[in-house]
Amino acid sequence: MTDERRAHILVVEDDTALREVVSGALTSAGYETSLAAHGITASQMLQDDKAFDIVLLDIGLPFIDGWHLLEQMQDRSRPGVIVISARGEESDKIRALDLGADDYLAKPFSADELLARIRAVLRRVRPPDEAPGVVVHGAVRVDLAARAVTRAGTEVRLSPTEWLLLAELARNAGVTLDHRALLQRVWGPQYADERNYLRTFAQRLRVKLEDDPAHPEIVVTVGRQGYRFGPPR
Ligand code: CA
Repeated sequence: MTDERRAHILVVEDDTALREVVSGALTSAGYETSLAAHGITASQMLQDDKAFDIVLLDIGLPFIDGWHLLEQMQDRSRPGVIVISARGEESDKIRALDLGADDYLAKPFSADELLARIRAVLRRVRPPDEAPGVVVHGAVRVDLAARAVTRAGTEVRLSPTEWLLLAELARNAGVTLDHRALLQRVWGPQYADERNYLRTFAQRLRVKLEDDPAHPEIVVTVGRQGYRFGPPR
């Protein structure tokens, strides 16, 4: 979030207490929030073309329910949508995703869980500006804007998570990123202690990128601290 404009989130929730708790959590996390207590207000706010990045959409709403709002949102370029529902039924989840929602969260949920989902959806609807453009080390060229990697001129195919990890390292080439920071940025806040994820994905990147994966020069382990792209800056 640091180098981006603050994301703007519309919270559509008729339960006043929950609306306040959610907006409080979002505000503390640095997001700009707007609130709608029922479907008519929400519908108007969405039609007024406010530049929302994400809509947190309760399903059970007076006047116009969340399903109708989801349908209304389908025909234009719309913000990311996370449906929040008290019902928590698998059929509701499938219906929400079928209607174009990006994610579904059953009540009750924790603030951490909500923030993690928001980060994940934001990454999809609004990829960050990738300022440095192209980062090169040896035969490996990482084009951050085009999301493309080549090795000696040949395209290297990466999974979405492999790409996110490599891009995070390349964007900070020469700087050691500690385990927690990488896990939080690539996987999400709830993964801060899952170092095995990092080890696994660092190794997968090495196999694809390094001349000698056992002696990496691109995805470099820095003692017990973390990882670094290339030599220190
Ligand atoms: Ca409700």
